[in-house]
Amino acid sequence: MIEVSGLRKVYRDRGREVVALEGVDLRVREGEIYGVLGQSGAGKSTLLRCVNLLERPTAGTVRVAGQELTALGEAELRRARRRIGMIHQHFALLSSRTVAGNVAFPLEVMGVGRAERARRVAELLELVGLADKAGAHPAQLSGGQKQRVGIARALAGNPAVLLSDEATSALDPATTQSILALLKSLNRELGLTILLITHEMHVVKGICDSVAVMRDGRVEESGTIPELVARP
Ligand code: ADP
Ligand code: ADP
Repeated sequence: MIEVSGLRKVYRDRGREVVALEGVDLRVREGEIYGVLGQSGAGKSTLLRCVNLLERPTAGTVRVAGQELTALGEAELRRARRRIGMIHQHFALLSSRTVAGNVAFPLEVMGVGRAERARRVAELLELVGLADKAGAHPAQLSGGQKQRVGIARALAGNPAVLLSDEATSALDPATTQSILALLKSLNRELGLTILLITHEMHVVKGICDSVAVMRDGRVEESGTIPELVARP
């Protein structure tokens, strides 16, 4: 579902070159939850942003759902990104809009009509357990509820893939568990493929089928959880 090959990303920082990714290969199968684990600065966030081309790789290719994103121009890329949802550590909600308004936002951008939008928003809020919060504003919600809004918004375009950027890092342990359980159930029930980055081993152990461990811009090791546990 996601194929990353020979990915390299070099940033230029005040005339100095920073190699954020070097020779990264990743293969995420359809329907799996794939975790990228690593310490701060390892290159996880750069990798995630290269998968939906928010960041242009310096070299290498990215394929999502059979489409080579690295070969697309900006207009085609905007269309392709609709099939790739993303959730964020600090939720990235619009504070002036209601919960329903946040979830409706990507649908408005896609040009979905009013009636269909209302139907879809209600369905998405139901899916994440927030049907009773449609009219609330983000400031009135707990962290876990905000992330549920983020998840509903990410699913609005009916994506094949969900990218998660440290989605539970700002949440307390109990709320983290409930968000991880929600992601797992969306994975099972919708067949949603999830690529998540985290610095927390317990997140990987909790819900991932496979994992890549990153250090200094490279993948140190990767495989299914049982494979990695079995290695000496
Ligand atoms: P992680 O998500 O694992 O913390 P990042 O992908 O954020 O790692 O960062 C990888 C490396 O790239 C770090 O050395 C970081 O300082 C550098 N880096 C990230 N973004 C930029 C940028 N916009 N400009 C310059 N260097 C960057
Ligand atoms: P905002 O004022 O934050 O932009 P809107 O009231 O315009 O939010 O609602 C955005 C979308 O959500 C619209 O498509 C609307 O039909 C839908 N919507 C609004 N309130 C609800 C609700 N209580 N339940 C379900 N959907 C709603």
